[in-house]
Amino acid sequence: MPPPSNHDIQNARRNVGEDPVARVRWLLKFAGLQEISEEQPLKLQVLLFMGADQDAAQGRLPTTSQLQDWQSKVRTGLTQMSRGSSWKIEIEGSLGVTVVRGRVQETSIRSPSRRDHWSFTYKAIQTIIDGLDHLRFCARNDCAQPYMRNRRQEYCSGKCRSTINKRRYRQSLKVHQ
Ligand SMILES: [Zn+2]
Repeated sequence: MPPPSNHDIQNARRNVGEDPVARVRWLLKFAGLQEISEEQPLKLQVLLFMGADQDAAQGRLPTTSQLQDWQSKVRTGLTQMSRGSSWKIEIEGSLGVTVVRGRVQETSIRSPSRRDHWSFTYKAIQTIIDGLDHLRFCARNDCAQPYMRNRRQEYCSGKCRSTINKRRYRQSLKVHQ
């Protein structure tokens, strides 16, 4: 396959986005895909998400089965989170602080511990950490879907909110009988 054009790469970059909110949104979309396409655009998006820009430019793309593996890792991770467990991996690095022009700055270094060429899970968890304030899980226990928060919304959808309201209403009727 010929290396991707600049146009292809720009398109992929636009799809993934640069700020934390856009990146978390992209990750949820990736987790929710019904089918992992064999095609270049998705593979480029995944590379840019991981910060593997050089690989993208040179057309060193992950295989479809690598993408499927990464998708299933994200799904498993999100499910673990929704059940109150941690989604975590071992990392290498150091914890540090210094002073630059009178201001204290962090000098910690965090990096994936295994020598994988691509570390999708590392980037996925880091993306969620960067977007902590924006990702929520539905407060309806039997749903618990992740969603992007919109104001003070507690549920993933109007459907879940009204289900809970109906349940509360029925509960209140029982209490008063
Ligand atoms: Zn829900």
